[in-house]
Amino acid sequence: MSSDCIFCKIVNGTIPARKIYEDDQVVAFHDIHPQTPVHALVIPKRHIVCLDDLRDEDRTMAGHLLERVAHVARELGVAAEGYRTLINTREHGGQEVDHLHIHILGGRRVGPMVCR
Ligand code: AMP
Ligand code: ZN
Repeated sequence: MSSDCIFCKIVNGTIPARKIYEDDQVVAFHDIHPQTPVHALVIPKRHIVCLDDLRDEDRTMAGHLLERVAHVARELGVAAEGYRTLINTREHGGQEVDHLHIHILGGRRVGPMVCR
């Protein structure tokens, strides 16, 4: 855990979040500034800064994380019509919170992938 990381604080309950799902390895919660009617974040409980910090030993957790993204999307009712998943990495990727997270964006059709 990183003491100044807001997502670690959500993991340990120091700051509140609208949690959707939790197990021993991952947590899912609603994004505080939703970009779409459904906007959730799924994160590993362990403080991993970004996708580039995943290592061989994280394979099992990373597979679980991805499978739980699909599970959470089903729970949120967006799976049938579809949703977008997004991982931003570091500065050029637009990463604002330095704790690995996967966005789930759904509830409406999102536009084509446009990078501006
Ligand atoms: P990124 O730009 O990929 O790092 O996305 C970070 C996301 O975290 C943004 O969509 C923020 O709205 C969201 N966020 C920041 N703080 C919180 C919080 N306390 N609870 C829920 N979502 C948050
Ligand atoms: Zn963290």
